[in-house]
Amino acid sequence: MCDYNFETDAIRNQLERSQFQEHSTPMYVTSSFVFDDAEDMRASFTEEKIRTIYSRYSNPNTTEFLQKVVAMEGAEDGFAFATGMAAIYSTFAALLESGDHIVSARSVFGSTHSLFTKYFPKWNITTSYFDINKPEEIESFITPSTKILYAETPTNPGVDILDLELLGKIAKKHNLLLIIDNCFATPYIQQPIKYGADLVVHSATKLMDGQGRVLGGVVVGNTELIREIYLFSRNTGPALSPFNAWVLSKSLETLAVRVDRHCENALNLAEFLEGHEQVSKVKYPFLKSHPQYKIAKKQMKLGGNIIAIEVKGGIESGRKFLNAIKMCSLSANLGDTRSIVTHPASTTHSKLSEEERLNVGITPGLVRISVGLENISDIISDINQALNN
Ligand SMILES: *Cc1c(COP(=O)(O)O)cnc(C)c1O
Repeated sequence: MCDYNFETDAIRNQLERSQFQEHSTPMYVTSSFVFDDAEDMRASFTEEKIRTIYSRYSNPNTTEFLQKVVAMEGAEDGFAFATGMAAIYSTFAALLESGDHIVSARSVFGSTHSLFTKYFPKWNITTSYFDINKPEEIESFITPSTKILYAETPTNPGVDILDLELLGKIAKKHNLLLIIDNCFATPYIQQPIKYGADLVVHSATKLMDGQGRVLGGVVVGNTELIREIYLFSRNTGPALSPFNAWVLSKSLETLAVRVDRHCENALNLAEFLEGHEQVSKVKYPFLKSHPQYKIAKKQMKLGGNIIAIEVKGGIESGRKFLNAIKMCSLSANLGDTRSIVTHPASTTHSKLSEEERLNVGITPGLVRISVGLENISDIISDINQALNN
């Protein structure tokens, strides 16, 4: 592993060349690897020898992708998964036992919420939620069974910011594992391990791939915790495919330049929308009007590519806005080169009651914009004409 600056690591952190002296890492699409003799095989299985055995355990392309994420996040080790949810599920499943308790931010990704409320209770693992606007209440939810403190920042879809330094201090004081989903920020913008996170999880499907092509997930952190997660995953099989790992590793080479432009476009659009008469509220971490602007400035290098706006006129206006969009995509993905708009109240969160939606910060007219890499004037004019319609 090399030790250059972020952008250089993302490019130069590459597998050893094969006998063909290729410049760019090839794809190792193979399910298994061969041994020289019985002794080689024995030593490999007892892990006296660290090498590739079977792609459910490890694969050269997966290893290269992981090495990059480990370096970017300032972690010791990691494991790569088929999806972000596989990473999140396997991390909890590997580390928790029956009777354990999680304290989590209330606004977390929908499927993570389902893990906590629908599946973990089957194994007697319970979760308490704290309100992201009342971090001072976090400690009141901690019990002797609490093992994990879990959060995302910025949050989805409300784009609220949680203070990582504060979370790190609380986790340390109560001897909890702090796990952060860093998907919205990417390690280019924010590195939770600096603030005391024990593990960082990602959906690599979003800005890491950044082009809406492949699914992937990753967890990185300290060696002993990753070892537990590795053993669980080696036996249960959620591993990332070599093809997707190859795609993702190439994507990381351009993460810094892509995220720079994503954030520049997003800030421009957010500033434009702040003065728009059809918009009652704009939330973007690097706008001074953001309630946690100071915390965002402290822990984030840039504001990210997600903007939340409140369209005047409630749920019907939100739907009308979506229907009037011409260029941007209506899609469930985010962090793509293509700008994407969604209206959570009538789509992803339509099954919740209005009160439940408000609890996680979803107002009737809330629209989430994932700002892409199109020319900013085209993005602004599409959003503007849809708002005025
Ligand atoms: C998309 C997403 C996930 C889940 O990732 P998949 O790759 O879709 O499984 C988890 N957390 C956040 C914050 C996400 O945006």
